[in-house]
Amino acid sequence: MGSIERIKGVAKRVIAEKKNKNDVVVVVSAMSGETNRLLDLAFQAGGTADNLETDMIISSGEQVSSGLLSLVLKSEGYDSVPLLGHQVRITTDEVHGKARIARIDGENINKELSRGKIAVIAGFQGINRDGFITTLGRGGSDTTAVAIAAAIKADRCDIYTDVDGVYTADPSLVPDARRLDSVYFDEMIEMSSLGAKVLQIRSVEFAMKYRVNLFVKSTFVEGPGTQIKFLGEKIDMEELEVSSVACDKDEAKISIRGVPDKPGIAAKIFSKISEANIVVDMIIQNISVHGFTDLTFTVSKKDLKKSLAITSKIAGELKAKEVISDDKIAKISVIGVGMRNHYGTASTMFKALSKENINIMMISTSEIKISCVIDARYAEHATRVLHDTFGLGKAKRPK
Ligand code: ASP
Ligand code: MG
Repeated sequence: MGSIERIKGVAKRVIAEKKNKNDVVVVVSAMSGETNRLLDLAFQAGGTADNLETDMIISSGEQVSSGLLSLVLKSEGYDSVPLLGHQVRITTDEVHGKARIARIDGENINKELSRGKIAVIAGFQGINRDGFITTLGRGGSDTTAVAIAAAIKADRCDIYTDVDGVYTADPSLVPDARRLDSVYFDEMIEMSSLGAKVLQIRSVEFAMKYRVNLFVKSTFVEGPGTQIKFLGEKIDMEELEVSSVACDKDEAKISIRGVPDKPGIAAKIFSKISEANIVVDMIIQNISVHGFTDLTFTVSKKDLKKSLAITSKIAGELKAKEVISDDKIAKISVIGVGMRNHYGTASTMFKALSKENINIMMISTSEIKISCVIDARYAEHATRVLHDTFGLGKAKRPK
């Protein structure tokens, strides 16, 4: 929602649903750039990412949007009501800046719907036990929408965004990336956590847990979008080996060299880091030589400084040789449920990278994804190479 013109465009979509005899609840996010602007103001005034004041400030973007959309709907002759998070009783935990929804009371929403109104709800915000406004983390309106859909048992939840669906790779990196008609929840969760920015990961997890019928569509162009599907017990043998490639440049790695190799060391390091609310992604430990080992792990770039301070302190206590870090890395991943039916996906990936002379620094795998950490300089090139290697420019997923 970038301008009043855009909001009128959104209103048109909503009215079309209404004309199809659907009850509609709209969850709005802030106008484009607004949350960044507000966040910047809060920071200038001394706020941090987890102040209650910061949450009060940055949640206001959605308040404005919901008022504006409701006005536009009314001027088009449709009865609507703007509602804030606390008015629909979206209760969250206490964590400012990345609160989790604890419960939603669908009653107020249902009441408005039964009066024939369109409910226009401010996304991204909730209220904690003490009555303070909380926000759900960047992209949190997605999660509001899914959570509300679950609470009122909606038939469908359409997330409108600036791309027209979920792609085989970031279309700005890979020119022949294609929109997928459907993607499995399991894959979407991997994609969201591996750098694809389409949906906030929590919204996908929530939708999967509460079995919300979820679609991703474009705000700008009409189209089928992408359906997020539930995976049956058996995977179709015809299923694509890899359905997408993701690239994440938001991580950094830390290595502790020459750590005494004895029980309890990893526990010590990683418990301190998790106590600081930092999420560790990949971890590797080398074979020990003469009783010493090296340990390398990745964290999000924004947590690098804090993680380094913690790690250096522990390294000192453990008499480790040194701590080094590198924030010029990228994590490249291939994702696909079809991997379960194929042999050698990992070796195909490694061969493709080695052919391009791209060195792999770390590897991690699950049943449906393989990730490699490489030098950030090759991130874009590697994404394109893997997209080609697995034939994603042309392959179509079986219906
Ligand atoms: N306005 C918030 C943000 O920019 C929430 C959202 O857009 O989903 O992150
Ligand atoms: Mg968004």
